[in-house]
Amino acid sequence: MKKNNFTRRQFIAGVSVGSIAAAASTSIPVLGNISHSLNESGKLALLGGEPVVKSKIWPAWPYVDEKMVEAIIKTTRSGIWCRIQSSTGTVPTFESEYSKLMGAKFTVATGSGTQALHTCVEALGIGPGDEVITSPYTDMGTIASIISSRALPVMADLDPESFQLDPNEVERRITENTKAIMPIHIMGQPCNMERIMAIAKKHNLRVIEDACQAHLGEYQGKILGTIGDLGCFSFQTTKTIACGEGGAIIGNNEELMDKCYTVQNHGTNRKGRSETIGPKYRMNEFEGAILLAQLESAKERFLLRNKNAAYLSSKLKNFPGLVPQKLYEGTQSGSFYLYTMSYKKEHFNNATRNQFLKALAAEGISMSGYIPNGLHKEPWTDHILNLKVYQKMYSPARLQQYREELTYPKCDQVCEDMVMLWASGPLLGTQGDMDDIISAIMKVHANRDQLNRL
Ligand SMILES: *Cc1c(COP(=O)(O)O)cnc(C)c1O
Repeated sequence: MKKNNFTRRQFIAGVSVGSIAAAASTSIPVLGNISHSLNESGKLALLGGEPVVKSKIWPAWPYVDEKMVEAIIKTTRSGIWCRIQSSTGTVPTFESEYSKLMGAKFTVATGSGTQALHTCVEALGIGPGDEVITSPYTDMGTIASIISSRALPVMADLDPESFQLDPNEVERRITENTKAIMPIHIMGQPCNMERIMAIAKKHNLRVIEDACQAHLGEYQGKILGTIGDLGCFSFQTTKTIACGEGGAIIGNNEELMDKCYTVQNHGTNRKGRSETIGPKYRMNEFEGAILLAQLESAKERFLLRNKNAAYLSSKLKNFPGLVPQKLYEGTQSGSFYLYTMSYKKEHFNNATRNQFLKALAAEGISMSGYIPNGLHKEPWTDHILNLKVYQKMYSPARLQQYREELTYPKCDQVCEDMVMLWASGPLLGTQGDMDDIISAIMKVHANRDQLNRL
């Protein structure tokens, strides 16, 4: 299907009044030409001026179509609600279709991304006394998957331009007990997998890719999730392929993937023998049905998000006030779970991020920060350091060092400067919508001297 047809047909319901107006206008902001655009002159809407966009309605998220609704009805009527009732049910079928889409040999579906990650930790035999290196700038599910196995999540600081794990920081945190690295493809963009895989190889570590935000992104010819030993995805409602709560593990090693199946099936293997420790994390057939029904069109939405993101980034290219997430060499595409930028207040008359966001919202474009604090600032660190099992399995010196090293200045800076646009929704809009976003930013910038009056 041609992208244009798709945009019109699938998203016509979501096209906003504002975007039609913008499409009709010839005044698309170009940097260096800011003062020439009508929208950008005058008074900030927050101070009584005319807003750039009136009542913006973004394409709705989650994505729903009749095919998905019919799939749920069909599953309800079939009476096959649990994956073990049928080898041709929606979950086993989803697993084989997802493998094809991702270019992986095997998929094991789970009830969430957190469950997928925890299954991998268990399946790799990682437990008390072991350490896993990951990022403090992620969903709590990443950390939960490690502490659920009573292993130690060792966080490494970020590359402040890409918001991703800094490979040098990862290497610095390796100890004799490190068993794995769990890199996050944050915002759905590839992290520096070339360096991370090289470090893993050098130190004989396993790699579990947290691709929970990164469906279909590509790096150096490989789909994210297929580069490390195992890759995990989330299908929670906000994610770019969604079923409410759901997850999946992909991989090419049959033995390891069978182990993942066994772990998530309360330790019971495909032949019915109960052989290991495992929770019950099976995906149900309703989740399988709604996922299967959206896989085909998910690719089109992925292409549209990439197109719109590239357009926004091209418009912001020479603008120093908002700097889009840095993409590593080898990035071919990203999932664009979120479209993110660093806010540089020195280019906005030193206005705080909140002042900027308030002014932008009044112009009709809502953006926000993302994770307010790195996960090293949450109380779980105290909790595990005081737990008997951690005090038994790790030396007092190691736990003391762990506590002392809970400072991540680059992560703190990223949390403070982050400005994000939801990608499922806004990034499924039209080019006119993208122009509206840029116009609102440029208007606030052009009138930045008014920001300190807010
Ligand atoms: C969403 C998410 C998870 C957890 O997935 P759930 O399905 O919510 O359990 C883990 N890591 C990252 C980076 C995520 O965005």
